[in-house]
Amino acid sequence: MAFSIPLIFGCQKTYYITKSTFFTPLPCKKNAKRSIFADAPPLKVMKPHIPEQLSSAQWQDWHWQLSHAYRSLDQLAAPLGWSPEQLQPHRAAAERYQPIVTPFYLSLAQSNSPDDPILRQCLPLPQELEDTTADLDPLSESDQSVLPRMVHRYRDRVLFFATGACALHCRHCMRKRFWDGPCLPAPTDSELTAAVQYLREHPEVREILISGGDPLTLGDDTLQRILTALATVPTIEMFRLGTRTLAALPQRFTPALCNILEHCGKTVWIASHFNHPDELSPEAAEAVLRLMKAGVPTVNQTVLLKGINDDADTLRRLFTGLLRMRVKPYYLYHGDPVRGTTCFRTGLQTGLDILADFRSHVSGMAVPTYSFDLPEGGGKIRLEPSFQCGTTPDGTPVFLKIDGHPVEYH
Ligand code: SF4
Repeated sequence: MAFSIPLIFGCQKTYYITKSTFFTPLPCKKNAKRSIFADAPPLKVMKPHIPEQLSSAQWQDWHWQLSHAYRSLDQLAAPLGWSPEQLQPHRAAAERYQPIVTPFYLSLAQSNSPDDPILRQCLPLPQELEDTTADLDPLSESDQSVLPRMVHRYRDRVLFFATGACALHCRHCMRKRFWDGPCLPAPTDSELTAAVQYLREHPEVREILISGGDPLTLGDDTLQRILTALATVPTIEMFRLGTRTLAALPQRFTPALCNILEHCGKTVWIASHFNHPDELSPEAAEAVLRLMKAGVPTVNQTVLLKGINDDADTLRRLFTGLLRMRVKPYYLYHGDPVRGTTCFRTGLQTGLDILADFRSHVSGMAVPTYSFDLPEGGGKIRLEPSFQCGTTPDGTPVFLKIDGHPVEYH
């Protein structure tokens, strides 16, 4: 069978990994579809830039993917098929904000154009250097930290940074400050002891959002050590693991990992981060299914990104595709004004217009909550388009029907 994995850019043949013939070039299948979704665009021709002896088992191995992640612009040049001249405008941004891209994530790109929505999310852009005055931490996470790794903003939940490492450096990341200096390592035992003590002293906290960085870049043993320690706090009911790996490294969701999550002693939810329908891979769908079988549901957080997903059709395909993949679209975030990311921000009205457009043809199940964060850790604001168009003289509200006509509501 063919678990055919089309790889990276730019030649006249499509390459597949099969169980028997690794990297045997097959005739290019015009209109071949990699996605499990009928309305996904056809796959474009890709060229692999990976060791010739690579096996399918290696490709499906998350350790291989992480250890072969592209970590510089020069490493990306060959798989992109870009000339030195094409790379040049991206160099300064790559030096300031290092790229990290798994081969798997790069393989999701449908072309090597810098406008490809996958590439726009992972390739350094000159515009990232244009905003020099925006804050690196506008949500004041550092100020609201009660421990070096723990932010306590809302009464019933805390945010815990498990690591600063990521499988993918998303160019729009709201924690780009973590990219500077040495990467935050996994917590030591004494850091975990301090976290447990704080949580025991604050029984009002019932949920821990474990984030980073990406906690699922940690190995099984380390993750289990963290979950086991935090699970000793009896008042904690739930862990939520924020991760980009379902999109960038779905191979991470091995049976062993699912087993750890299933038996860690608390309810676990995954908060995934898909921003574009091209990220919805068969591998991700299989990983979600494995998680479900382990009793771990998944919700998704999307960031509204200028030039990537800021139109109704792209987000409709993303959100309905997520539902088909058994992932509930949870949040659509308006981008925070973080230094190095403001080029991705839209106006607030863009998100409202998209949600208004959804009203007549997208199931409410597929529609996430649109929200943004107030500065200085002021909390989330949820936004909804309003369909009230006025009131009658006696104060009765008037709303717009789906067909655009006004109707009074008593
Ligand atoms: S995976 Fe998350 S923390 Fe890492 S760069 Fe992407 S958005 Fe930022």
